[in-house]
Amino acid sequence: MPAPGQTPPPAPADEFSLVGNVLCIDFVNTEVVAHGTPVDRLGDVDALLRWARMADVVDEAALRRLPAGWRSSREAGRLLQDAKALRAPIAESAAWLLEHGDRALIRRCENPRCIRFFYDTTKNRRRRWCSMDACGSRAKAAAYYERVKAGQRVSAGRPRRAGRPGPSKP
Ligand SMILES: [Zn+2]
Repeated sequence: MPAPGQTPPPAPADEFSLVGNVLCIDFVNTEVVAHGTPVDRLGDVDALLRWARMADVVDEAALRRLPAGWRSSREAGRLLQDAKALRAPIAESAAWLLEHGDRALIRRCENPRCIRFFYDTTKNRRRRWCSMDACGSRAKAAAYYERVKAGQRVSAGRPRRAGRPGPSKP
């Protein structure tokens, strides 16, 4: 933890992904798959705080007041109160989703190895990937590879031309 008065370091760029478009879905997306195994990225309070900071659901000033070794401090007690308060915005977003959201727009990323969800807010409602930078570009690259591979098979199966096409000379 940072010393008092210091802002906690931001979450690494790939630690959390806020691609869900709804806070409760972003919270669900804190579980990811790494090397085929589900991993809870909120494995400790510090990770929860980094996520809360990234998701903008915790008071930045409260984070700055955290002393080093904060777990046994009075600030920790206050922070735990804030953590309880953290549930409120997540629950509110879930309530909004259930009451006003279109459940058909809650989708899972089409990458079979990905377990992220998102609420599709795209204009044409055809979003397929949690993120174009991650799963979308991987899928495009895989599709391109398959097309190239299929093209090579087609080319390999074609008879080679011997001379110019057309009627044979008598
Ligand atoms: Zn994905």
